[in-house]
Amino acid sequence: MEVVETIEAMRQARRAFGRVGLVPTMGFLHTGHLALIRRAHAECEQVVVSVFVNPTQFAPHEDFESYPRNMDRDLALLASEGVDLVFAPASSTMYPAGYNTFVDVYGVTDTLEGAARPGFFRGVATVVCKLFTIVQPDRAYFGQKDAQQTVVIRKMVRDLNLPLEVVVCPTVREADGLAMSSRNAYLNATERQAAPVLYRALTAAQQQYLAGERDAGTLRDTMQQVLAHEPLAQPEYVSVADLHTLQELAWVGDSGALLSMAVRVGPTRLIDNIMLDASRAGAGSRASPR
Ligand code: AMP
Repeated sequence: MEVVETIEAMRQARRAFGRVGLVPTMGFLHTGHLALIRRAHAECEQVVVSVFVNPTQFAPHEDFESYPRNMDRDLALLASEGVDLVFAPASSTMYPAGYNTFVDVYGVTDTLEGAARPGFFRGVATVVCKLFTIVQPDRAYFGQKDAQQTVVIRKMVRDLNLPLEVVVCPTVREADGLAMSSRNAYLNATERQAAPVLYRALTAAQQQYLAGERDAGTLRDTMQQVLAHEPLAQPEYVSVADLHTLQELAWVGDSGALLSMAVRVGPTRLIDNIMLDASRAGAGSRASPR
């Protein structure tokens, strides 16, 4: 496995590759990241993984400095997955002195995570756009865990005519439903026990939807009620939004919806989501036992 830190070395390695799958990450890898890598392996000739904690997507008060990092462990995992190349640039390589160009995706970045974290998607779109032009992948793999990010990246790719395909992979969860995340490392034992409440809240609303409920306010109330039973959970937002526009819905129509939330569990901010798929609703209208 080749590990490169410069843009020149990345470009040179790319010239010898065929159909490349790129998996952008911020490192501190877990099974969710590995699922993206395995999918890329199945569909591409070479797999490139980028490991870069992107400073432009963190606000000054956020956790850029303390974000978990362990490059040695990440490289061992990536080697065991048979990854062809790891691109791990320094911040000064991606953003040299005088750097002053940013990508702003409008229309789908002012709600949910975009509203809670101003400037976040500007940082994400900018770094992903740069990674796309540096690595020049045929396909790029992203997790449904960051649902709004997938909408933003797809829109950027479409609007800027970037010549690649975006592939979105399902969220990988712990046995108790907690979505895997590098930030789960922040949770102490009590918080870790409380953290599956996000998934319980999402699945409670999903069950209600599958049983026929279409009022978005009722689904939001259900999620809030489940969260309210967990004293360590402080909801930041709970949303039932259109899958494409990410605007809040009053009613869930035939095109389904995105259930999502950001919740503080102790000091740690966790996000999670479930897609309500209208095509499954008919088959699943029997309420499952809980
Ligand atoms: P991150 O390192 O957190 O920036 O994540 C890198 C990529 O992995 C993003 O596309 C994430 O959406 C994806 N990812 C993170 N956690 C999960 C998960 N639990 N399941 C699937 N994909 C994930």
